[in-house]
Amino acid sequence: MKNTIQFQKGYSLSEFFNQYGTEDQCHKALFDWRWPEGYICSECGSTRHCCLKARKLYQCNHCHHQGSLTSGTIFSSTNLPLTTWFLAIHLITQSKTGIAALELKRQLGVSYNTAWGMKQKIMQVMKERDDSKVLSGKIQLDDVYWGGERRGLKAHKRGRGSANKTPFVAAVAVNKEGHPIRMNMCVIKGFRSKEILKWARRHIAPDSMVISDGLPCFSAVKEAGCSHATIITGGGPESVTHQEFTWVNTMIGNVKNALVGTYHAINHKHLPRYLAEFCYRFNRRFQLEDMLPRFCYVATRTPPMPLRLLTLAENYG
Ligand SMILES: [Zn+2]
Repeated sequence: MKNTIQFQKGYSLSEFFNQYGTEDQCHKALFDWRWPEGYICSECGSTRHCCLKARKLYQCNHCHHQGSLTSGTIFSSTNLPLTTWFLAIHLITQSKTGIAALELKRQLGVSYNTAWGMKQKIMQVMKERDDSKVLSGKIQLDDVYWGGERRGLKAHKRGRGSANKTPFVAAVAVNKEGHPIRMNMCVIKGFRSKEILKWARRHIAPDSMVISDGLPCFSAVKEAGCSHATIITGGGPESVTHQEFTWVNTMIGNVKNALVGTYHAINHKHLPRYLAEFCYRFNRRFQLEDMLPRFCYVATRTPPMPLRLLTLAENYG
């Protein structure tokens, strides 16, 4: 039997170009996603306005504020055509394992730095979107290091804060049948109770049922109102196949393969965004056809992120 996710009707490049092949089409679409009820002044909320066509600006009749379709959004302060943005979003959201900046540069015909900046901004939108949602129900939870061995070394590396290894938590919410619903992968400062509590309060609903191995800090989820079951796995190869952890282990394997296979080298400070990108696509895997409209709707509500800020270290939000 065909896998219904893998064989679902996607959104082809030719469909994409029919719908969003011109600047005009992209402009109209983005306008409707940003202002479904018509233009609204971002300063005073007035809807009365005039268009300064030559400069592609909207001027408020009430306060005279001038805004553009992209100002105040993640698309602002770039001189890129919307068609280039839309194509980048299409390629990134439709790809299963991600698309590297170098490949994006080739496909879009822009410089590497431009492609890299777009990629980071698009991932930032994905991160902020998924950060606004929580996991609930039954949740498989595990600890992972990026840059280190997952098994074997794990036991005695724990708590030593080894260099070149970035700790992150992986959590997968499963339904009654044990199928994965949603996941979250989040860089944390370390596997300490305080950090797990902080993560749990932000990313999982109270009353969730969390299942983890015996790492002591995981019991901090109880302070966030969750119940917690510990399954001692012994850390050997058999723990990988333990059914209580099947999905979280599978996802950890998938994300590592995807990141290594697609990106080769990821600066640790950008890891949170790459993890978010992976989770974002997984969490919307049933909705391939709607990826672009849904993304753009959120993107017009995501504040600008100057490149200068993108290149600073993440503060592990
Ligand atoms: Zn106004």
